[in-house]
Parts: sequence; structure tokens; C-alpha cells
Amino acid sequence: MEEDVLLKEKEKAEEAMIEKAFQELLNDYLGTKHRKRVAIITKAFNFANHAHRGIKRRSGEPYIMHPIAVAKIVCNEIGLGSTSICAALLHDVVEDTDYTVEDIENIFGHKIAMIVDGLTKISGGIFGDRASAQAENFKKLLLTMSDDIRVILIKIADRLHNMRTLGSMLPNKQFKIAGETLYIYAPLANRLGLYKIKTELENLSFRYEHPEEYSEIEKKLEATASERDLVFKNFTDPIREQLDRMGLRYRILARVKSVYSIWNKMQTKHVPFEEIYDILAVRIIFEPSTPEEELNNCFDIYVAISKIYKPHPDRLRDWISHPKANGYQALHVTLMANNGQWIEVQIRSERMNDVAEQGFAAHWKYKEGGGSEDEGELEKWLRTIKEILDDPQPDAIDFLDTIKLNLFASEIFVFTPKGEIKTMPQNCTALDFAFSLHTDIGSHCIGAKVNHKLVPLSHKLQSGDQVEVLTSKSQRVQPEWEAFATTARARAKIASLLRKEAKGYQKEGETLLATFLHNEGIPQDDSTLDKLVRLHHLRNRDELYAAIGTQKVILGDEDRNLFKEKKGRNWKKLLTFSFGNKENKQAEEPRPTKSETEKIDTKEILKLTEESIRKNYIMADCCNSIPGDDVLGYLDEEGRVIIHKRQCPVAVRLKSSYGNRIIATQWDTHKELSFLVTIYIKGIDCMGLLNEVTQIISRQLNVNIRKLNIETIDGIFEGHIQLYVHDVDDVRTICNNLKQVQNIKQVTRVEEGK
Ligand code: MN
Repeated sequence: MEEDVLLKEKEKAEEAMIEKAFQELLNDYLGTKHRKRVAIITKAFNFANHAHRGIKRRSGEPYIMHPIAVAKIVCNEIGLGSTSICAALLHDVVEDTDYTVEDIENIFGHKIAMIVDGLTKISGGIFGDRASAQAENFKKLLLTMSDDIRVILIKIADRLHNMRTLGSMLPNKQFKIAGETLYIYAPLANRLGLYKIKTELENLSFRYEHPEEYSEIEKKLEATASERDLVFKNFTDPIREQLDRMGLRYRILARVKSVYSIWNKMQTKHVPFEEIYDILAVRIIFEPSTPEEELNNCFDIYVAISKIYKPHPDRLRDWISHPKANGYQALHVTLMANNGQWIEVQIRSERMNDVAEQGFAAHWKYKEGGGSEDEGELEKWLRTIKEILDDPQPDAIDFLDTIKLNLFASEIFVFTPKGEIKTMPQNCTALDFAFSLHTDIGSHCIGAKVNHKLVPLSHKLQSGDQVEVLTSKSQRVQPEWEAFATTARARAKIASLLRKEAKGYQKEGETLLATFLHNEGIPQDDSTLDKLVRLHHLRNRDELYAAIGTQKVILGDEDRNLFKEKKGRNWKKLLTFSFGNKENKQAEEPRPTKSETEKIDTKEILKLTEESIRKNYIMADCCNSIPGDDVLGYLDEEGRVIIHKRQCPVAVRLKSSYGNRIIATQWDTHKELSFLVTIYIKGIDCMGLLNEVTQIISRQLNVNIRKLNIETIDGIFEGHIQLYVHDVDDVRTICNNLKQVQNIKQVTRVEEGK
């Protein structure tokens, strides 16, 4: 009886919580500029609430709290309207309950049903257990995205909420989800201009992968907060005075670098927290006096504040005249504060700020008013994606990397001979540019003129270059081009053209071979073909045909003898043959068939962990982790566990592609084995310094120096020390002790595999 009462009360409390969350969503929605379509949103909520009734999330919350939270993100953080809010509320209904897309269509109409359908198709993670499934899913995601961009925006909101509530998942699931988020969702969010969400996704992933480093940086940020507040106040007071005098409506915000970006910078620049000087940036957001004055106001503010503080000559970034491909617009300047510190100031209008935070959704919001031309950029990008999808590469991982190339790259501007501006990714080559103009221009190009000077196709373009592509009708795509094409479009086109060409040669080769075998009276069967493949050291029949077709292999006596001598030297042939056979088998055997790979599920992995992993692990040599590092295990196809550092780029790829094979791994014994690490030091050269360094290291118990390499240039010394240590604690102690030395300015462990 009592239990019943308790249960009823719990149910009541839950219902009240659900109702409250939904009312918050409605209020948020009513506060936006969108049409007030409360009825349909309420209907979607009631439908979803009913469909998910009684189901709980891992955290114990009623399931419906998740779709409500996703709808809130869609409304508040991405700025979408009622259609998207309804789709967000309904996004897991088809996937998790008995309702179908048709049911949704009957009740909510075609648009909402299509979006829910898109979301259902790409559910369950972009990356399945197998590479092919993963590429399939990813393709689906991008295809649905190009049909209706709202699908991917809601998917990102879904992922954001799952990341915010990741704590209740199992650790190996956490790694998979965090890895996938960092690998694909954060870059996608960035590409769609959702900076705020991108930053939060990165931060959350980082927090789960490196909890200690995360809290360390967080603590340091807290400890230095008041210091930054003071710098901010002193720096902005004179600016406020000036802007007031100009009669502008504005607000000034302090922007603090995210924990993840700080860590990233510490890793790539090998500097400690204390030496990151751009943690604080200042953002001036203004309301233009009239819409037409928006750009003028930006530059007026720039001129006004450059009179107060000295601007850095090389650090003016004009994203106003040339918006980034994701629509971002702002003017960035770096000014010298009175304390001698460089501070970046970002100047943007309220409209530009919305675009920066909410991405393309914000464009639509302003479209009715002013009309924006930048939207074309997104369309162009989607078209590129579609083109690549129409002609996918056979290797799934290559395919993903190709797409990813286009997500991360930052941009430069180059000019055509007619003065047209083209946006290209950084580090792109003249060849990439040729392909960006047209496939025919790319495939027939022989060289380029950059700023009127002749350059090879591999020449890297700089922002502001004027590029003229030279073509010739007789030119054809060259295999070497794959090495210096960097854009997704160029790479995909080159690969596809080469494949097409290879197919032609293969056909020719096949005919030539058939004629040859016929004339010699040799049967054209599997064994004959296999022997020829081996004879010419090729990998498969296609390669054999292609080699004959391109005349790299010319059929002759050697091939003839292979079959004729068989009788005379029978014993010898047999020996080589069986040996060769055995070798082949060995290479193939450990690789399980597809069905075997699929069978490995989490349970089996957990069983493996307890029984055999302890003995059967290998340290990955790409990142050389040592005891104490944040690591994870990857269960390979032979049942071995390969230990990577969590931030190792190889591990990131494994996590994303084979999440189910990832095992949460921790060190327990520390002081038994020795591992090699490299420490980088830099400082001011002085007498006896080297002696001091070696003293400090040898004082540490049982640590041995393997190699010491120090170079001094103009009074600055720089060096690498290779040491045998037991674990991360050893490295930390040594680094801390070295930092105590007055003339040593920088000490860091060199992260390998970076
Ligand atoms: Mn969901």
C-alpha cells in the first residue's frame, strides 16, 4: 500500500517536472520573433509525451525530458522556429516507439515528417561498428542535410544535449561519443557557423577525455579571473568614453578563451598556461545608427579605438568586406593595452553577432529584412558535398577524411585574372584552384601563373594572390597530383578520373591477355591468373590487367615459361608454390571475416578485459604513452589491446570509426617498467646551466638520461632530453624541478604523434 502511494507521488512529481519544462520551452518560443504557432508545438509535445510515456533515460529521468531539452536548444541556441521545434520534440518517436513516419505525416504534415525521417535515418551515431556502415550513415547525414539543413541543425542540438548529460553513460560509451563529437560534430557546427555550440562540444569532449587537465585549467582560469576583470575594466573604460561621445548604442563583453582552446594552444605551442596571452579578448557589439551605416560604423569604431591604443600592424582581420564561408562577419584588431599586453578586439553589429552565435539560422531571420548574399556560400559548400557524394571513394575512411578536409580548413582569398574573388581553404595549391573553377580546367591544367609568374601546379597559394590557370587539351590527370591536391573537391575528382582511366586500361589489358593466353594454348583460369599476378609482384587481377593495358608489363617469354617449365622442374615449382601459398595464408588468417567482426560486442569486450587483456596489450608507437597518461585501449582484430594516449590523432580516428572496440583503460602499476619520454627545454644560456640540468635529472631516483641534445643560438639555448622514466609523476617532478632553474624559461614534455 505504502509503496503504491509513494509511486503515485513520484509519478505526480515527474508529471509536474515535465509540464514545467514544456512551459519554459513555450515561453522561450513566445519570446522570439517567430510566428506564434503555439497550437502545433503543444500538439507535438503531447504526442511525444504520450509516445515516450513510462520510458526512462539512463539518468533515471523520464525520456521526454530529452526531446524537450533538444527543442529548447533548437529554439534558444540555434534560433529556429516552430517546424524545427516540433521536429525536435518528435525526433526520437519513430526510432524508439511504434509510431511511423506516416503517422507523423498524417498528424503534423509533410515538412515535419520529412525532418523526423531524416533524423531517424541518421540516428544511432554517425559511425557504426564497421567502416562501411559508418560511411553509409555519414553519407545519409550529408544527403539529408543538403535536402533540409534543419535536419543537421537539430541533430547537432541532439548531440549537444547528449554531451551535456554524458555523465550517466558507461565509460567506453563516453569515449566513443566524445570522440565522435570532436571528430565530426564540432567541425560541422563550426562549418555551419555555430561557434558557441562548437566551443561547448569541444569543451565537453575534452572534459571527458582528460578530466584532470580540464579541472587544472579551469582552476587556473578561476584563480586569474579577478586579474582579468581589472585588465578588462582599465582597457575598456577609455573606449566606452569615446563610443559614448560618438553617440553609439553598444555593449562591450569580455570573451574568455575556452578550456579546450587553451589546452590546444598549450599542446601545439608547447607553452604553459601562464604563457598564453590571448585568454582575454574584448568584443564590441553595436546597434548601427541605420542599416546602411552598419559597415561604416564598424570602421568608425576601429578608427576611434586605434587612436586610444596602438594597433598591431599585422593583425587586422577584415571579415566584414570578405565574410568567412560560414557567414561570419566581424572586424578583428589587436591593440596594445596600457600594461603592454596585446588584446584582441572584435567589432561586430548585433546582426553579425547573431550570425556568429547562431550560424546560418540567423541568416534566415534577417533575410526578410535586408536580404543576405552570403547564404550562397553555404549553398556552394553543400553542392561540393553533393558532388563528392555522387562519386564516393571506395575507401570509407578516405571518404570521411576527404569530407573533413572541407570542414576544418580556414580560408584565404584569391583572385581570378578578371578580378573575381574566390574563397579557398588555407594551404591550397594552384591545382586545387584549377579544380575549383571547373573539372575540365583542373583535369587539363599544366601550370599556373601566380601574380604573373609561372609556377608549378603544386605551388601553395597565399591570400591576395592573383591566379591564372594554364591548360592544354592534351593534358590528362596525373597520378602524382593526388599528392598535392588538398581540397575535397580536387581530391575526389582526381581519384574518380584516375579510376575511370584505370578501368579503360584494365579492359585493354584484359583483351591483350586473353589473346596472348589463347595463342599460347594456356587455359585462362584462376590458377593461371594468380600465377601471373605473383610473377609480376602485383596485388590483384585488376592491377595485372592495368599493368598490361598501360604496357608496364609486356607479356613474353617469362610468362610463357611459367607454364611450360612446369613439368621439368616439378619439385622446385611445388616448393615455391606451397611456400607462397602458406605465406599468403598467414597474412590473411588473423583477419576475421566480416561476420566475425560484427559479433564482437561490448559484453565480449568486457569479458576479454578481465581475462586476457592484462597480458595481451601493446603500446601504440604513434604516441608512446607512459604510465599515468590518460589512455584508452583499442581491441584489434587479433584480440590484442593497443594502448593509445587519448589525444593521439590515431586514437581519435579509432574512437570515431570503431567506437565499440574502445576499452576504458587505466594504469595501476607505476614503478615497474621504464619508458622513454622526451622533454623540451628552452631558456637563456649561461655558465654551468647544462651541469645544473643533468644534476636535477639524476637526482630523481632511477631515471636515466638516454640522449641530451642542446643547441645555443644568439644566447638562447634550446634542447631535447630523452629520458627513461617510470610514469607521468616522474616527468612532472623533473619538469617542475627544471622550471625552478632561473634561466630556464620553458619546460614541456614533447607529445609524440602530433
Ligand atoms: Mn535524441
